[in-house]
Amino acid sequence: MSEPSIFTRILRGEIPSEIIAETENVFAIRDIAPRAPVHLLVIPKSEQYRNVVDLAAGDPALMAEIVALAQHLAAEHADGEFRLTFNTGSGAGQTVFHVHAHVLAGGLTEGSLGG
Ligand code: AMP
Repeated sequence: MSEPSIFTRILRGEIPSEIIAETENVFAIRDIAPRAPVHLLVIPKSEQYRNVVDLAAGDPALMAEIVALAQHLAAEHADGEFRLTFNTGSGAGQTVFHVHAHVLAGGLTEGSLGG
């Protein structure tokens, strides 16, 4: 077995972070290094999928659950409009290989494109 991801460790309470929302299958935290006024991460509780390509192919309903929670959070924390980013592959900036969506909102600039 490989080491649990940092997000699994947060979910287990092993690393401090506030879980700001959760459903049966996904949870959300604030990004520790925000690149927008609102920068949240929506994460499946299972780390079965490494990236959004695997997730979309393997469990489209879970993908839809992530999008729905992102929309809910954007309405709660900003004006309801948001950018949803899935960095996919290290060359594209992915550093945690437990799929997660960056929810960016609240006055975006081009500088927050990267997620
Ligand atoms: P990515 O680079 O797309 O894989 O995204 C990983 C994100 O996780 C980065 O934006 C990090 O800032 C964020 N991150 C890493 N560690 C933590 C943590 N302990 N709490 C919240 N966010 C984190």
